[in-house]
Amino acid sequence: MITGKNYIGSQQSAKGTKTYKTFNPLLNAENETEFTEATTEEINEALQLATDAFAEYKFTSGAKKAEFLNTIADEILALDDKLISTYCSETGLAEGRAKGERGRTVGQLRSFADLVKEGSWVEATIDTAQPDRQPMPKSDIRKLLVPLGPIVVFGASNFPLAYSTAGGDTAAALASGCPVIVKSHPMHAGTGELVASAILAAAEKTGMPNGVFSNINSSGIDVGAQLVKHPHVKAVGFTGSIKGGRALYDMAAERKEPIPVFAEMGSINPVLILPEALKQRGDDLAKTYAGSITLGTGQFCTNPGLILGLKSDELSQFISNLSNEIVKIEPSCMLHPNIHNAYQKNKENTISQNQTEVVANYSGDVKTNHASQAILTVDGDTFLNNTTLHQEVFGPFSVVVQCKDTKQLETIITHLEGQLTGTVISESGEVDNYSGVISALQNRVGRLIFNGVPTGVEVCPSMVHGGPYPSSTDSRFTAVGIHSIKRWVRPFSYQDWPNNLLPDELKNENPLGISRLVNNQQTKATTT
Ligand code: NAP
Repeated sequence: MITGKNYIGSQQSAKGTKTYKTFNPLLNAENETEFTEATTEEINEALQLATDAFAEYKFTSGAKKAEFLNTIADEILALDDKLISTYCSETGLAEGRAKGERGRTVGQLRSFADLVKEGSWVEATIDTAQPDRQPMPKSDIRKLLVPLGPIVVFGASNFPLAYSTAGGDTAAALASGCPVIVKSHPMHAGTGELVASAILAAAEKTGMPNGVFSNINSSGIDVGAQLVKHPHVKAVGFTGSIKGGRALYDMAAERKEPIPVFAEMGSINPVLILPEALKQRGDDLAKTYAGSITLGTGQFCTNPGLILGLKSDELSQFISNLSNEIVKIEPSCMLHPNIHNAYQKNKENTISQNQTEVVANYSGDVKTNHASQAILTVDGDTFLNNTTLHQEVFGPFSVVVQCKDTKQLETIITHLEGQLTGTVISESGEVDNYSGVISALQNRVGRLIFNGVPTGVEVCPSMVHGGPYPSSTDSRFTAVGIHSIKRWVRPFSYQDWPNNLLPDELKNENPLGISRLVNNQQTKATTT
């Protein structure tokens, strides 16, 4: 465990006896460093420190929190090659990807720093008193968003930086004023410890309270379960499998004090290719989608795992072209043997279903831990009647469904589980003839994409990364972008509270100069 000022380097400070190592999938060998599973004593210590830290951290100004977040970004960059080489050795991912993800992580931290420094994100709302109102006088009521308390964040296997130790969940929670305890992902514990050391260095440099951040190591589900059940924890952030996310969600609901779990889980991201678009650019689309399905060895939550079209000669040609294109791509390495084994198992299970046709399955030599990409096709009736075909196969795999008509297409979309994204490929104006289908798709997804690919999630305020269950556990929130901060706060009102005792955000003088809703008018003006 690494926590607060007690940090002296994980191997020296760890109290447990159970150890584990990370794995280099490219070398098919364990990495050298040994990590120690956190003990119950360490979990309790981290939670007590976080609870104590919250008493101070929740009052830390936006400017100070911005300094903290920007310093974390600086410290991460200062880790330089050490971070990049550790990341690569624990994931099999290329240096370019590591650097790109580091840039995204640093960018997220800085965007939250800007948000809290400016300050209007707290949605300060003021309704001044009306003492003469008839028949009853009206009180002065003022509202803002306040942090929930200690948050547990589970690092994601497929984004060791951007969705892990100092990733989006952590950045948003720290920005909101919540201390964070990270349950490090065992597949990249070394990357996690380096980033944790950067966060703690930043906490020291900027004078944050001890316990504002802790990193907990473990390689089994017990530690995560203990954290979620711990009475001091007030919410959970998770990215990973539906099985894992749902287990944590149920655990949190069964607590004496239930808490929210914001889990971002599986998705097959339906892509709807309309007939005219297929006629005009079927060949190009086949190339584009072969690339999107295999990008990052298919290990993205926005991977296009389902392609829907209307049965036709053009769709048959597209399936043939997609199959030819995808097997031209050299198989790439998966993150870990366990993920590779899960891919093989899930792929085999899906292609063994009745009335399915495997149209592509890379058959050349495939190195250890590398994934052979595959495409399956089925007709609409078979897909509708077999929900196994609706399940995510995490890896470079996609199912093309040949629907008999538009009605069946709409029925299939209506019967899909909740998804992160839905993509529509259309010629200009063509989509106008499919309003029922598009409406059905909107009901099932968090983001609609027009004439693109679902892979690639821009980090910006208008992004929604989330969607109806099971793509996420709460479709009202996004896990990406500055508005993801809303997962870690609650609305809070003061009634007739003395001006001098109000937080600065709600004082009459508006000392922070933030934008507020005062008597139903959005303004930066002072009030009385
Ligand atoms: P995971 O198995 O869901 O594990 C994620 C984290 O949650 C790990 O730290 C794990 O702990 C913990 N965890 C899982 N189940 C738990 C439980 N019942 N109680 C307490 N903690 C629990 O996901 P993963 O390791 O990242 O990858 C495995 C599979 O998840 C992949 O094959 C893929 O299908 C899916 N996945 C999906 C996405 C997506 O974005 N849709 C992203 C990543 C992974 P330990 O590891 O310590 O046991």
